[in-house]
Amino acid sequence: MQRSQDVGGFMRRYYFIGAMLLLIGGSMATAIAAEEQAPSVGHFLDPGILAFPAASPRGMVGSSFGKGSPVLHDLMVSPDGWVDRYEDYRVASSVLTDGRGEVQGSLVVVNRDNGEFLAMLEAPHRSGLIAGDRHGLQRMRDAADDDGGNGFKDPDGIENPRPPKPTDRAGKADVDSKGFIMIDVFAGFSEAAVKKVGDAKAYALAQVASVNRALQNSKVQKVRLRLVGVRTIKQDFIISAENLDKSYDLFEQDMFDKGADLFAGFFDTTAEDGTEGMAWTGGRASMQTVKFKHVFKHEIGHIVGGHHCAEGDASYRHGYDNGKSLTILCSHTQGYQTQSKRVNYYSNPAVKDMHGVALGKPGVANMARLWRERAEAMSAEAEAVVPLN
Ligand SMILES: [Zn+2]
Repeated sequence: MQRSQDVGGFMRRYYFIGAMLLLIGGSMATAIAAEEQAPSVGHFLDPGILAFPAASPRGMVGSSFGKGSPVLHDLMVSPDGWVDRYEDYRVASSVLTDGRGEVQGSLVVVNRDNGEFLAMLEAPHRSGLIAGDRHGLQRMRDAADDDGGNGFKDPDGIENPRPPKPTDRAGKADVDSKGFIMIDVFAGFSEAAVKKVGDAKAYALAQVASVNRALQNSKVQKVRLRLVGVRTIKQDFIISAENLDKSYDLFEQDMFDKGADLFAGFFDTTAEDGTEGMAWTGGRASMQTVKFKHVFKHEIGHIVGGHHCAEGDASYRHGYDNGKSLTILCSHTQGYQTQSKRVNYYSNPAVKDMHGVALGKPGVANMARLWRERAEAMSAEAEAVVPLN
């Protein structure tokens, strides 16, 4: 019930903005759209685009669904057969490749049995969230220009204030029947954040899937995140160390009940209020604004124990800027200048970007190695409650 009311509220707002745009027109409309971050309306994506079995030839997927998905331009999807399920949601993701087979971006699609969907597109020509309702109406919210890290005012990976005691740990990782180490995530939302994203569960699933896609892209094998619960609270939080502590407390019981290893808080705060996100380095908690879509996978990089690319502490636990591409942890406190484009990869010297340049450097930037080393301990933070298979 709560959910349909939320959607109704969103739709009323959207119709209102649409009517305003029709009335005003031209440059004034553009200004309002930017200020309100109003989604544009149209047909962007065929939500069935990733519903193909893995065996389908890539060209066939590209030709039959490409026409129904103008937002992809000429990029093609290569579904790998992975479908995560959560209640009545199905989640699939794909890299996006060009005609030469080079990876240009990624796409996550969360389909719901009632026909609604939420997609997260990350591509050189366009990035953002696309939502479709059960009647086929689609709206797209483009990612803001500073999406992805340049809005971090202060170091956002802070010291873990709650280092684990030996008794806190379940002692062993949760591993599914396919041998995947499973890291369980509980997502907490404020009501204000839900107003922005529409469907909190779909949004959390897309965020988790985007991390899983990055892990696959970065050749981190046999490690996956899994959403195990979502709850919305009235209170909204500005991103700060103090509020990360407070919000963690509010969801600690949920985490216990669902066997969650990690807490991810999603709030409707702007970078001007504080910063985009924050996480306990090597800990269990992150909080992030829903204003930008990249923040969670960056913050979880801090939870793994990683640092930004510009910080040199003589370890391999860093993001990487190879002069063409920026990996996920390569976001910066203010002042870092680069022309490189953000890609959905954690640093790994053994993986190359679309330009053929390595996305990491041994001894300097190898987040893939850190993920592999830390995955078992992260999974062992709490014993799984939701069945693994
Ligand atoms: Zn950071």
